[in-house]
Amino acid sequence: RTLAELDARVTKCRACPRLVDWRESVAKDKRASFAGEPYWGRPVSSFGDPQAWLGIIGLAPAAHGGNRTGRMFTGDRSGDWIHAALFRAGMNSQPDSTAAGDGLVMTGARTIAPVHCAPPDNKPTPGERRACAGWLRRELQLIPTLRVLIALGGIAWQATLSGVRGMGWDVPRPQPRFGHGAEAVLTRPDGAPVWLIGSYHPSQQNTFTGRLTTEMLDAVFSRAKEIHQV
Ligand code: SF4
Repeated sequence: RTLAELDARVTKCRACPRLVDWRESVAKDKRASFAGEPYWGRPVSSFGDPQAWLGIIGLAPAAHGGNRTGRMFTGDRSGDWIHAALFRAGMNSQPDSTAAGDGLVMTGARTIAPVHCAPPDNKPTPGERRACAGWLRRELQLIPTLRVLIALGGIAWQATLSGVRGMGWDVPRPQPRFGHGAEAVLTRPDGAPVWLIGSYHPSQQNTFTGRLTTEMLDAVFSRAKEIHQV
C-alpha cells in the first residue's frame, strides 16, 4: 500500500461514532463567517512531502479549520503559526495555507495527525485516540525517510511514543517526558535513529498568552534541521 492510498482510505473511516456525528454536524451547521463555503466534514488525512525527513505531529483537525478545508493545519490560527514557521525554515513554498488547492508545496516536511477527525472542544477521548492509532502506525511505516519528529503538545508526544512502541521501535526507559524542547532518540527495528522533539502546541491558548512565541517555535525547527544536517 502506498501513502497516497492510505491518505485516501483514512478519509472514509467511520470508526468513532461521536466524532463522525461531530465532524458532520459542524459541517452542516457551519460558522457564520464561513456560511457560504463548503465544509469537508470527513477525516482529514496528513499532508506534505511523501518523502519527508521531518514529521510534525499535531493533535486533531480544528472544527472550522481542517474539518472545513480538508487539509491538516489549514484555515486556522494554529496552521498559520506552523506554516509561517515552515516557510521561515525554508521548507514551505508559501507562508500560509488557507485552503486545499492553494498551491502550497511542503519540501522535506509532512504534517501528521494522530487523530484524523475534529473532536468537540479539541479533546479526543482516550478511546478515540486508541482507535486512530492504527492509522498513525501505518503512516509512519510508509515514510522510511523520517529522521525527526516534532510533537506539538503532550498528547502528540504520548501518541508518538505509544505508536512507535507498537511498531517495535525502541523507546528509552524511563519513558521520556514531554516538555518544550525535550528530546528523545527512538530507534527503528533496523537500528536507524529517529529524534523526537517536543514543542508546545501553537494553539491560541499558548500563543495569546506568550507561552509559545515565534522565537521558541523557530528554535525547535532550527534544532530539527541541525539534527538532519549532521
Ligand atoms: Fe477513524 Fe480516526 Fe476519525 Fe476515529 S478519529 S473515525 S479512527 S479517522
